[in-house]
Amino acid sequence: MPVIMDITPVKDIDWESPGNRLYHVPFTYDGEWARVRVPVSVICGHRPGKTLVAIGGTHGDEYEGPIGCKKLVAELEPERLSGRVIVIPVLNVPAFQADQRESPLDGGNMNRAFPGDANGTITSRIAHFVTHEVLSRADIVVDIHAAGTSMEIMRAASFHQIDDPELFRAHVETAFAFGMPFALVYTGGMGTGLLSEEAEKMGKITIGGEFGYGASADLEGVRWAYEGLKNVMKLHGLMPGELERLLPERFKRQVLAANTDIDRYITAPISGIAEPLAPIGAFVNKGDPVVCIHDFDDITNPGVIIQADRDGYVACRKFRARTRQGDVVMVIAEEIPNPLAEGEGLQ
Ligand SMILES: [Zn+2]
Repeated sequence: MPVIMDITPVKDIDWESPGNRLYHVPFTYDGEWARVRVPVSVICGHRPGKTLVAIGGTHGDEYEGPIGCKKLVAELEPERLSGRVIVIPVLNVPAFQADQRESPLDGGNMNRAFPGDANGTITSRIAHFVTHEVLSRADIVVDIHAAGTSMEIMRAASFHQIDDPELFRAHVETAFAFGMPFALVYTGGMGTGLLSEEAEKMGKITIGGEFGYGASADLEGVRWAYEGLKNVMKLHGLMPGELERLLPERFKRQVLAANTDIDRYITAPISGIAEPLAPIGAFVNKGDPVVCIHDFDDITNPGVIIQADRDGYVACRKFRARTRQGDVVMVIAEEIPNPLAEGEGLQ
């Protein structure tokens, strides 16, 4: 196994020549003589085409993205590629090394740090590099997440609300190429500074998604990440071939669902222990019990039942059962009209 000793300053990265190149881009610590090395693979095809950017490890305790991206890079051959693929398998390297969501160096949540700041702390400087050197070169951006350790989210490729009908359609088609049971339109209201928000502002086709949960490496999630990225490449002409069916047999069809109203992201009225009463991804009717929050300070208390506020699919739950007042404990996503024609692009 070769050990790569060198780092590559940003100005020396070759973004254009045909080939498959791995760089380690250095970012200097804020308080000591040390540098974080962010792996960046640039794979340029022998023929022109679109640029796909694939990123994993934006949060350090989500593993399907890093594994899927790493496997993809190992497989791509410039001779068979039309266009360019830029892959960052692990974006927040210090967080990943520490097995935690945020960077231990500055407490930075990479997915709240965009567009970043060239003079900011290390997380912000890495974000700044991604915005100006990577996202700016993209046509399609995929940022693979896995809900971290506190939540479980329906297996969905996701994106924010998009008003332009053609761009919306392109997002739906790209999201469904991952073969996950859901494509989810969600709200930007839960945070600012998201990587995906920055890419969307630049007009890129931008897909996020939750490929697993619980700091695990989910078997299906890794497959959706790795094979799904190849499906996206086929869909956008970067590689030849038919899209592969990735939707597991137990799902009858893919569903386009949405919840874009932050006031319908239901939070816990009391602190306690969250008991799920409906499985993630299940269809529920308005009024169905979805979560019970048990108050163990009063062992005789039956708990607070949270009911579905509409007909739809259970989009998230607490994975860590210990729940604080105000934690999001239930989101119901409604099915919305699909702009793709029957059978088109769907699995
Ligand atoms: Zn994440």
